[in-house]
Amino acid sequence: MNFQLTEEQKMWSDMVYNFCQTELKPLAAKTDEDGKLPLDVIKKMAPLGMLSLNVPEEDGGPGLDAVSAAIAIEEIGRACGSTALSVAAHNGLGMTPFIVYGAAKQKEKYLPLLTSGNYLGALALTEAGSGSDLVGAVRSTAVLDGDEWVINGSKAWITNPSLSPTIITLCQTEDEISSHSQSMIIVETDTPGLSIHPKEKKMGLKGSPTHMLTYDDVRVPKGNLLGRRGYGLHQTLATLDGGRISIGAMAVGLAQAALDESLIYANERETFGKAIGRHQAIQFMIADMATEIEAARLLLYQAAWLKEQGKPYTKEAAMAKLYASEVSERAAFKAIQIHGGYGYSSEFPVERIYRDQRLLAIGEGTSEILRIVIGRSALKG
Ligand SMILES: Cc1cc2nc3c(=O)[nH]c(=O)nc-3n(C[C@H](O)[C@H](O)[C@H](O)COP(=O)(O)OP(=O)(O)OC[C@H]3O[C@@H](n4cnc5c(N)ncnc54)[C@H](O)[C@@H]3O)c2cc1C
Repeated sequence: MNFQLTEEQKMWSDMVYNFCQTELKPLAAKTDEDGKLPLDVIKKMAPLGMLSLNVPEEDGGPGLDAVSAAIAIEEIGRACGSTALSVAAHNGLGMTPFIVYGAAKQKEKYLPLLTSGNYLGALALTEAGSGSDLVGAVRSTAVLDGDEWVINGSKAWITNPSLSPTIITLCQTEDEISSHSQSMIIVETDTPGLSIHPKEKKMGLKGSPTHMLTYDDVRVPKGNLLGRRGYGLHQTLATLDGGRISIGAMAVGLAQAALDESLIYANERETFGKAIGRHQAIQFMIADMATEIEAARLLLYQAAWLKEQGKPYTKEAAMAKLYASEVSERAAFKAIQIHGGYGYSSEFPVERIYRDQRLLAIGEGTSEILRIVIGRSALKG
């Protein structure tokens, strides 16, 4: 068993760490305050391969392995939560269905656009009445009329649609609702009848745009079916397995940021004549954070490694996201505790990290749904 990153992975990790710490981290507070992503910095990610993390070489991508892709999201999360969510949703949700299920013509048309640095991709699954329950509760429909799909319905809580040229939309395409009644359809964002509503006001990750969408007789060509008709749910679940590695990576990054800030503060702040880091109570909090982050990272890299090997990784991705999101909450809590009253102020990053990490136990499978996935898998075992 080898726990070392390869030389290539180490070089990649150093490069993304340096880029994120220099370019992204200094803008993280402003990104949160203004509720706007640093698009100029995101554009610079394109030539580095950070906007095409999962695109293989044959499709014009950098051909990175899955551990390297996870490392990139981890480092982005360590620097800026909002940017991490949007870039993770782009690489995982908005791009993966094109890469895995796209026809050659669809890849040719959309992959260069999506990886150019001018856009971030989007995938619309969730609806007001359907988040965890994607099988039975998706109500948006796509009906064939001659050579066109006509889409009606709405979607909720969608990341990036205002920055994307396309929204991959999960629709019911068959009369009888079942696990084979849904399909993914590509909707270009300038199609008449599609409305992207104003940004949601959120607790954290405020720079990452989240929108409700409505589709009112939206007509797209028949050829915009992405993948197999009736297999939308299966394609979604497979996409979410990879997405869970991304959210797990973001959680490890945010937890690491909470620890980074705590180490600086614990060495600087003095009480009772010594740095607070010399009080055992603070050391214990630091020790728990460091240990749990390491464990979360190992689960994460294991899931990514399994994905890379082409082995099943549904359970491991669920475990990595579940554990890492809970670790990031505990780490952010302790980081505020270590900062005392200053931790409660937006002057210090830990307040933002605490708000940002909260989504990670909800998006791309809530902790409850992940426990169901893991429990079922263990019981089958
Ligand atoms: C900032 C943000 C960004 C997002 N981005 C996207 C995106 O890009 N694309 C997209 O499609 N969606 C996106 N979402 C939606 C997100 O994936 C859903 O919010 C999530 O899947 C949960 O669905 P829900 O909100 O409908 O909660 P519900 O499914 O209504 O769940 C409510 C509660 O009930 C629990 N619960 C539900 N079913 C069960 C069960 N069977 N057993 C036990 N407990 C259960 C849940 O765990 C949760 O605690 C985003 C959400 C947010 C907040």
